[in-house]
Amino acid sequence: MSKNLIITIDGPAGSGKSTTAKLVARKLGYLYIDTGAMYRAMALKTLQQGIDPKDKDVVAELVGKTKIELKQQKDALRVYLDGTDVTAKLRLPEVTKAVTPVCQVSRVRQVLVEQQQRIGLNGGVVMEGRDIGTVVFPQAGLKIFLDASLEERAKRRHSELKAQGVEISPEQLKEQMAQRDREDVDRDQAPLKKAEGAILIDTTGLAIEQQVDKIVNLAKSLSAEGKND
Ligand code: C5P
Repeated sequence: MSKNLIITIDGPAGSGKSTTAKLVARKLGYLYIDTGAMYRAMALKTLQQGIDPKDKDVVAELVGKTKIELKQQKDALRVYLDGTDVTAKLRLPEVTKAVTPVCQVSRVRQVLVEQQQRIGLNGGVVMEGRDIGTVVFPQAGLKIFLDASLEERAKRRHSELKAQGVEISPEQLKEQMAQRDREDVDRDQAPLKKAEGAILIDTTGLAIEQQVDKIVNLAKSLSAEGKND
């Protein structure tokens, strides 16, 4: 099978992007890239430097002095910020809060999008985020938009956070996620929307294997047709 397909997976928080993208990549022998982790690493850097994440000019300047690397280690993707593995810190509530203003700084998006385009250039990649099919790789061979009801997404994220030892009430989390949905959809910079030509998969009530198989089968039939981008 061709190794050159670019697969983009976009969708709101908790739609199952990360788990799905990771498993699809593993099944196809592709590289998995979590672009949200790159924005989170940038947000963490502002906090570490004592910078106000809402200070656009300072954040824009900071991105030029920041090195974010993604490394596939065994089965996990590790994120390095200026040479230090920060993976475990990226989902902390303070980072989640800081990432919203940070990812709306246009210079931050420009630098990270260029990096994402370099990583995916030769294909053989499953890249997930909010703007991968619309901005980063609009020409990708397979574009997926994952969605699920807010209830289901909040339930999934709650279990994930609990497993990481983060305590938050389900109601509070649901409200936070609804707020983040609004911010993702309404923002000026690369708002969350289904890319032209993207295939919508509603994962409410779907088992993870079903959504993974759906995407893997689509990828295989596209590769058989010789579609490589
Ligand atoms: O997916 P995740 O929750 O880790 O994303 C973290 C933040 O980065 C979110 O606020 C999301 O809007 C933003 N993001 C983005 N563009 C991407 C991926 C994530 O703006 N490609």
